[in-house]
Amino acid sequence: MAMRRGIAVSPGVAIGTAYVIHEIFVNPDTKRLEDSQITAELANYETARDKAGADLRALERKVEAQVGREEASIFAVHQAILRDAAFTNKIRSWIVDDKMNSSAALHRLLGEYTTLFARTNDEYLQERLNDVRDVIIRLGSHLNDAAKPETGSIVGPLIVVADELLPSQVVALGDMDVHGIVTQKGSQTSHAAIVARSRGIPAVSGVSGIARKVKTGDTIVVDGRDGHIEINPNSETLKAFKKLEREFFDLKDKLATNRDQPSLTADGCELRLQGNINGVADANAACAMGASGVGLYRTEYLYLTHPSVPDEDEQYEAYRAIVAASPNHNVTIRTLDIGGDKTVAYLGHDHKEANPFMGWRSIRLSFEHPEFFNTQIRAIVRAASEFPEGTVRLMFPMVTTVEEIRKLRSMVRRAYKTLNSRGIKTKEVPIGMMLEVPAAAVSISTMIDLVDFVSVGSNDLVQYLMAADRDNPKVAHLCQPLAPPVLIVLKNVIEVCNRANVPITVCGEMAGTPRAFVLLLGMGLRRFSMSPAFIPSIKQLASQISVEESERIVAAVMKFKTTAQVKKFVARLIERIAPDLKMLSTE
Ligand code: PEP
Ligand code: MG
Repeated sequence: MAMRRGIAVSPGVAIGTAYVIHEIFVNPDTKRLEDSQITAELANYETARDKAGADLRALERKVEAQVGREEASIFAVHQAILRDAAFTNKIRSWIVDDKMNSSAALHRLLGEYTTLFARTNDEYLQERLNDVRDVIIRLGSHLNDAAKPETGSIVGPLIVVADELLPSQVVALGDMDVHGIVTQKGSQTSHAAIVARSRGIPAVSGVSGIARKVKTGDTIVVDGRDGHIEINPNSETLKAFKKLEREFFDLKDKLATNRDQPSLTADGCELRLQGNINGVADANAACAMGASGVGLYRTEYLYLTHPSVPDEDEQYEAYRAIVAASPNHNVTIRTLDIGGDKTVAYLGHDHKEANPFMGWRSIRLSFEHPEFFNTQIRAIVRAASEFPEGTVRLMFPMVTTVEEIRKLRSMVRRAYKTLNSRGIKTKEVPIGMMLEVPAAAVSISTMIDLVDFVSVGSNDLVQYLMAADRDNPKVAHLCQPLAPPVLIVLKNVIEVCNRANVPITVCGEMAGTPRAFVLLLGMGLRRFSMSPAFIPSIKQLASQISVEESERIVAAVMKFKTTAQVKKFVARLIERIAPDLKMLSTE
């Protein structure tokens, strides 16, 4: 029995059988081949290559049919890597010249690519490394068919243990009975964390060395409330966690029944609980969780998975599919927010900036690619015009100045004109700004006349206000949405918008966390957009608290000087108001 600590990234408790994904590469066999074995080894590699190719084609078809074309395009990229001559020639030459077996050759290639990509320090290339690694691991799994554990032969629910979760593995998880996820790398904002949260699967990340420590078949407990795991626990510990796991399941079942109920506070105030989505699969999840709409569709995922700039028709089809799949066809589409932590090389974003989050990102970048930007706006307006007026809204990220809003408005007017001149009938699309730059928060009263709605991007607003990078664990203690200065700013912004009757939403991660939800409610917020998996628990919490109570909590909290005081005070109150929801907290 052993206990390991990491970061809690998705709440709940799960018990299951370990399924270690990267197991094949932990100890590749380094024994040199005999000359007589070389031909057979080359054939072995070719067979694995054929099988990997067949996998990828099947995955591409499956994902295209079930999720969408843009999500499937990643598998076309993987097939191109698999066909790449340099890639294959290296493996073949190591088998022939260095007498390596295929697994060891793949392992060497992975090492070479990792070193090469580490040197470039370019985030776009880092993402491509993930793709190369994904292909190598897929090939490796076919070489080790005999050694590779068949998930079918592992008994019981699975706890996936991995160094990190790669894109295609995430898709493959859809077919497996996964109850928990443990990764060595990663944090709250990593891919594994986002997927785990969106599926309501307990997960712990940042558990160093775990893929070596755990073997496929071990019993693992994942405690996503405080971020620890138990490996092969004794019967007493197991019994205690089984009880907790049952409570978690019961709570999820109970909450799932509220999907068709209205979102009301205990005193009957109506709320809008919406989903944040990146693609059609998330739109389906938003429907399943009872979201009233989509408060944030991040269009950059369409570009990140696309090998070149998608043209207007492709974008229009993609947006239309998203809106068609979303609850009540109610979707706020955000224009491209590239830069910061996300890069797309074909938009000229291939250089290193000293301060990418404060640099050439978002609309700042889009403005410099007017042809691209106008195309995206036209595609959104076209898609919006297919649905009842006002259900699809157009939102611009990182708005900093009044001049930017004026310019954006004139671009939207131009889009109407161009489309009308092509004979396409358009509908008025509400235009909104994301409020995530402190300058905009300070001068919000001078901006709201120019927009139809405001949506607070608290992930960025908090990092900019606190001057603490949202992805840097070293300053995570500062990048806190419940820090008193953040609360002062949020309260003011909500009040200004409410007074002016301009709809305001908070769509950053904090909207889906119980403590921030209670405070935002007490500040007068009525629209919340969050990862769809959080909607049932927030709806439940809302039904147990009155607006008046939340206002009293805010009045008390605004007097506190430290984040710790705020957190402790609100946590205690929530524990009293909704004790059963504690299970669904990672705080
Ligand atoms: C935010 O900044 O809060 C936000 C919702 O946008 P993103 O996380 O995509 O930057
Ligand atoms: Mg943002």
